[in-house]
Amino acid sequence: MTTQHNICLNCGHKLVTKRENHPYRSLPGTVLVGVPVHRCPNCGESEVEIPMIDDLNRTLAGGLIVKTSRLIGVEIRFLRGWLDYSSAEFARLLGSSPVTVSRWEHDAQLAGVSIESFKTLGPALAGAKPRRGKRNRLPVLAVRPLTRRWERTALKAA
Ligand SMILES: [Zn+2]
Repeated sequence: MTTQHNICLNCGHKLVTKRENHPYRSLPGTVLVGVPVHRCPNCGESEVEIPMIDDLNRTLAGGLIVKTSRLIGVEIRFLRGWLDYSSAEFARLLGSSPVTVSRWEHDAQLAGVSIESFKTLGPALAGAKPRRGKRNRLPVLAVRPLTRRWERTALKAA
C-alpha cells in the first residue's frame, strides 16, 4: 500500500505515516505493535491502518477460546462480535440466556459457564467466515476524525 500520498479527510493536508504501537479498541487490553499510523500535522487527525484485520481478529478470538482463565466482559463481547452472533444466538450456543450474556459482557456477573463451554466456539471460529453485519463490511482501515467518531473506509491498493 502506498501511504505517502494520503491526504487528510478533515483538512486536505498531507498525512505523515509512522509505525506505532496502538491500542486495539475492538479488544481493550490488546496493543497492535508497529502498525502504520497516518497523522495530519495540520489538524491532528489520525488514521490507524490495520492490515489483514480478519486474520488478526481470528487469531485473537482463537487465543481467547484457549485461555485457561475465565473470560472477562470485553473478551466475551469481542468473541460474540467477531462471530457476529446476536445475544440470543450466542447464549443458545453456550447454553445460557441473552440476559446472562449481557451481564457477562458488562462484567455485572462472572461468566458462569466453564471455560470448556467457550471452547465449543472453536468450530464456529475455525469454520466458515463470520457472518458480516453492516458494521463489519469495510473494517480494513479505521479512521478517527477529531470528533472521536469512528468511520471505516476501504483500504486503497497500491
Ligand atoms: Zn488534517
